[in-house]
Amino acid sequence: MKLNVKNIRYLASDDWRVLIATEQGSRNHEVVPTPLITQIAALRSGNGAHKCISNLAKIGLIAKVKNAKYDGYRLTYGGLDYLALHSHTKSSTVYSVGNQIGVGKESDIFVCASETGKQQVLKIHRLGRISFRTVKANRDYLRNRSSASWMYMSRLAAVKEFEFMKALRREGFPVPEPIGQNRHTVIMSLIDAFPMRQISTVGDPAALYAELLSLIVRLAQFGLIHGDFNEFNILVQEKPNEDGSVALIPTVIDFPQMVSISHSNAEYYFDRDVACIKRFFDRRFGFTSDEPGPFFKDSTKKLTKRLDVEVEASGFSKKMAKELDAYMKEHGIDGDAGGVNQDEEEDEDDEQTVGEADDSEIGGESIAAADAQLDHQLEETEVSPAVLA
Ligand code: ADP
Ligand code: MG
Repeated sequence: MKLNVKNIRYLASDDWRVLIATEQGSRNHEVVPTPLITQIAALRSGNGAHKCISNLAKIGLIAKVKNAKYDGYRLTYGGLDYLALHSHTKSSTVYSVGNQIGVGKESDIFVCASETGKQQVLKIHRLGRISFRTVKANRDYLRNRSSASWMYMSRLAAVKEFEFMKALRREGFPVPEPIGQNRHTVIMSLIDAFPMRQISTVGDPAALYAELLSLIVRLAQFGLIHGDFNEFNILVQEKPNEDGSVALIPTVIDFPQMVSISHSNAEYYFDRDVACIKRFFDRRFGFTSDEPGPFFKDSTKKLTKRLDVEVEASGFSKKMAKELDAYMKEHGIDGDAGGVNQDEEEDEDDEQTVGEADDSEIGGESIAAADAQLDHQLEETEVSPAVLA
C-alpha cells in the first residue's frame, strides 16, 4: 500500500473537517450517508461540504460506494493515513515523510523527519490488508462492519505497540524511543542498523547469542514474551571497539504480538522465541551452544516487575488486548517467520476485498474496485520525501 502525501498540504480546513466527519460517521455506518457527513462537518458555508467531498474523493481519501442503497462514502486507507499524519503534524511530531523502508504483511514503515530534521520512523499498521471475510468465528468483535474493523484493529495494534515500547524503554530495554501515536500509526526513533537477517558474519556470535537469550529471559522477568523474537525484529548495530574488534548492539522492534507470561500459551511462545534464535545462529553462523535452555519456568521464578499488568492499566486495556488477540489468532498473525499461516495464498486473493463481508448490506465489489483504483492511482504517482505542512 503506497502512501502519497503530496496532497496533504493543499487540503483546507474545511476539507479536514469533512474528512474527520467521514471518519466519525464510519463508526456507525459501513457506508456513511452523504447527508450525515455534511451534518457532522457542519461547515459554515452551506453547500461547501459537497465540494470538499468531491475534492477528497478525487484524491482518494474517501471513496464513493456505488451499489449502495443510499449515496455514501467510506474512508480509505489513504484517508486514515492523512488524518493520522495531520495530527502528527499538528502536534509537531512529524514534519515530512520520506522513503518507505519496510513493508510487512500487516504494516508499512517509512522514514520521516521531525521539525528539527531528526530522522524518525513512521509505522503504519494495516491489519485489514488481509480480508476480513474469513473472520466468522469472532464476528462479535467486528460487529459485522468490515471497514470499521480494519480501522479499529489497526489502531489497536498501534496503541499496543506504543504502550509496550514506552514501558520497555522506561525499564531500559534496547527498543526504539517511542515518540508519538495516532490512530493506526506509531512514530519512533530510527535505529541506524540492519535486521540481523542481513548480517552474514559476526566476529563473536557467542556474545550476541548470549545477549539475545538473556534479553528473552529479562523480558520474562518483567512479565513479557516478545512472541516474534527473530532475525527480522532484531536490528544489529556494529560499533567498532578501540581494540579493533566490533561490538554488536541489538535493538528489538515490533511489539503488536507481545504476550504476558500469564498467557495460556506463554511457555510455548517463550520456547519458540528461544528456538528462533538458536536456529538462526546455527544456520547462519554455524554456532550452537551446549547449554540447554533458557527455560520459561526458571525465567519466571523471580519476577522483577509486571510490565504486562502495568500496560494493561495504561492506554491498552484488557478488552482491547482480547479483541486484538482474537483478530490475530483468526488470521494466524504471530510473527514474520512463523506467522504466515496456510491460508496465505487464499488471503492474497482477497487482498482487495476488505469490504466484502458476505453479509454486509452493501455491495462489496464496488469497494474492492475503488480500492484497486486507488492503489493504481497512487502507484502512478511518484512517492518522494514530502513536507506535510
Ligand atoms: P512488521 O510488523 O511489518 O514486521 P516491523 O516493526 O518489524 O514491522 O518493521 C519492519 C522492518 O522495518 C524492520 O525489519 C526494519 O527493517 C524496519 N524498521 C522498523 N522499525 C524500525 C526502526 N525504528 N528503525 C529502523 N528500522 C526499522
Ligand atoms: Mg517485524
